[in-house]
Amino acid sequence: MRDLILRSIVLLIAVTMLANITTNTSHAVTDDNPLLAKWEGPYGGIPPFDRVQVPLFKPALEAAMAEQLAEIQRIANDPEPPDFKNTIVALETSGSALDRVSTLYGVWGSTMATPDYQAVQREMAPRLAAFSDQITQNEALFKRIEAVYNSPAKRGLTPEQQRLVWLYYTNFVRAGARLSPEAKKRLSEINQTLAGLYTKFGQNVLAEETDQFIVLKSEEELAGLPQSIRDAAAAAAESKKQPGTWVIMNTRSSIDPFLTYSDRRDLREKAWRMFVNRGDNGGEHDNNAIITEILQLRAERAKLLGYPTHAHWRLENSMAKTPEKAMELMEAVWKPAVARVHEEVADMQALADKEGAKIKIEPWDYRYYMEKVRKAKYDLDQNEIKPYLQLEKLREGIFWVAGELFNFNFTPVTNVPVAHPDIRVWEVTDKTTKKHIGLWYFDPYARAGKRSGAWMNAYRTQERVNGEITTIVSNNANFVKGKPGEPVLISWDDATTMFHEFGHALHGLNSNVTYPSLSGTSVPRDYVEFPSQLLEHWLSTPEVLQRFALHYQTGKPIPQELVDKIKRTATFNQGFATVEYLSAALVDMKLHLAGDKKIDPDVFERETLAQLGMPKEIVMRHRTPQFLHVFSSDGYSAGYYSYLWSDVLTADAFGAFVEGKGPYDRTVAERLRKNIFSVGNTIDPAEAYRAFRGRDPKVDALMKKRGFATKS
Ligand SMILES: [Zn+2]
Repeated sequence: MRDLILRSIVLLIAVTMLANITTNTSHAVTDDNPLLAKWEGPYGGIPPFDRVQVPLFKPALEAAMAEQLAEIQRIANDPEPPDFKNTIVALETSGSALDRVSTLYGVWGSTMATPDYQAVQREMAPRLAAFSDQITQNEALFKRIEAVYNSPAKRGLTPEQQRLVWLYYTNFVRAGARLSPEAKKRLSEINQTLAGLYTKFGQNVLAEETDQFIVLKSEEELAGLPQSIRDAAAAAAESKKQPGTWVIMNTRSSIDPFLTYSDRRDLREKAWRMFVNRGDNGGEHDNNAIITEILQLRAERAKLLGYPTHAHWRLENSMAKTPEKAMELMEAVWKPAVARVHEEVADMQALADKEGAKIKIEPWDYRYYMEKVRKAKYDLDQNEIKPYLQLEKLREGIFWVAGELFNFNFTPVTNVPVAHPDIRVWEVTDKTTKKHIGLWYFDPYARAGKRSGAWMNAYRTQERVNGEITTIVSNNANFVKGKPGEPVLISWDDATTMFHEFGHALHGLNSNVTYPSLSGTSVPRDYVEFPSQLLEHWLSTPEVLQRFALHYQTGKPIPQELVDKIKRTATFNQGFATVEYLSAALVDMKLHLAGDKKIDPDVFERETLAQLGMPKEIVMRHRTPQFLHVFSSDGYSAGYYSYLWSDVLTADAFGAFVEGKGPYDRTVAERLRKNIFSVGNTIDPAEAYRAFRGRDPKVDALMKKRGFATKS
């Protein structure tokens, strides 16, 4: 539930096979615009981040689209009868210039979205959507794909090739390749309008996260805040030109710690309201009307394509297959989670009463009293852990884990350009053979124009259609940069997120496939969080904690007694975490099952939560007007359930290590690499899972992991 995986912009827009990277280039257009040029330099070429200028994006995108259209025309009009090579492989190797530009364009969009960039984005989003439709609606091209799909020769292809053919065929059909010309026209109009609305939605949220903040002016207003939060708030005040004050930004990484520690209930309420109302404040950045329009257009599009609802369309090729299956899982977990929340609230209320606080627990009290209960019940203070969680030491920790599980070695490199001075790069090699595996970019700190949260991105995917192409992946986060020379200390939650994102990176780095469309993290949405959530489990292994959870002043490892306390609190507050997430996932799914009726997002959200019996002490992790997963692209729409779905696999899969020799069991790790981390989308995920585990996943492990009662 912590992140998005960002794929290149073309992938975000429509079907998943249009973007790919190849070495097949010989274009005249590359001469003038550096963003179009073939990537030069070491490691099979590296992204030219040092040559990016915002005004270059538009002409580069235009030239790259024109070039790919010409390539598509050549494939579609090939006089030779269609076969795997001249149609499917040809598509796989087309569009390389657009993919290179899209990578750079996407990095700017997520990490450096300046006002001039945002203007380009508003103009180009609908045009990129139209471009994508031009390909999937190309009649002659689809006829060739269909011919390959239906050809008896298909049986002579490898399983990976057959899956690729299936993927192209179904993706084209799902994108409307079979519709009448009028329906195609309408579909393309819808996609272009949606692309514009998604852009506006994201820019509105970013604007409210940037423009709104709370200025604290006195010691009284800082009451309860530990030094690390005060330092971060002082640094934020500098950046907001509010010298001599402390600023709480309107982002999760600022708000959550403030809600956890501030003794000032009035300020907690103020901060909470500011955060949960992003995109819901009326005025020019209000997202409600945009949501209504998006939902109606999605419903209309689903109907056009022959599906009852947007949710049915989205889930067809997922692991869950139908919204009903996804709902079934969510509902099975919902009730025990809500029951746990009532217990958690009762504990908090009792503590507040005992303190004589004379309050009733409200949403802005939850994190604050949760911390107090943690201390009272388990004698565990989160601030006791933090001095042991140094960002850079934990980075060494994730490298070490990758070495143990996958035999990877990480070496810092300085000879590659980066988009911002804060970004660092490592080369990944095999420990034994020294073979180059890929590059890992790390962009850890918050800055203006960077979207909030944490995510992984692939700048180039592994493939071997045109020789051995290695991958380039990145991890991105929003840690608050410390004072120069001082280590950045992070919370246990943030450390978990680091392991999570690194899990996505390892999914990309382990990829060992032939075709770029099937590479790395290009798997169904409800499967993609499985490798990343699995990696989270290695943070709490004694091996990692003893070596890498070192006190920033003494260098001493975290004491065993503290580790034991952390272990005892493993299921603490799981009611809150599950309900906060699951309420958002349920609202997402219900919004997209509602069909084409006109929806007022505020009313729908309120009524749905009331029907669900949402505890009033908790708010959705992402309220509808700020739900970027769902409304800034099609990405996780009707797909926020994916984190829970994947977590069923995660909990069950970790059991394989527990039943073996533990988290560092090499045999199990090798099975994991072979069947899960290296295969991308070359085989059906359910089959891949069975090959790893020897059976289908069971939900019991998830319930146990979260400390919920199971029925059986
Ligand atoms: Zn993730």
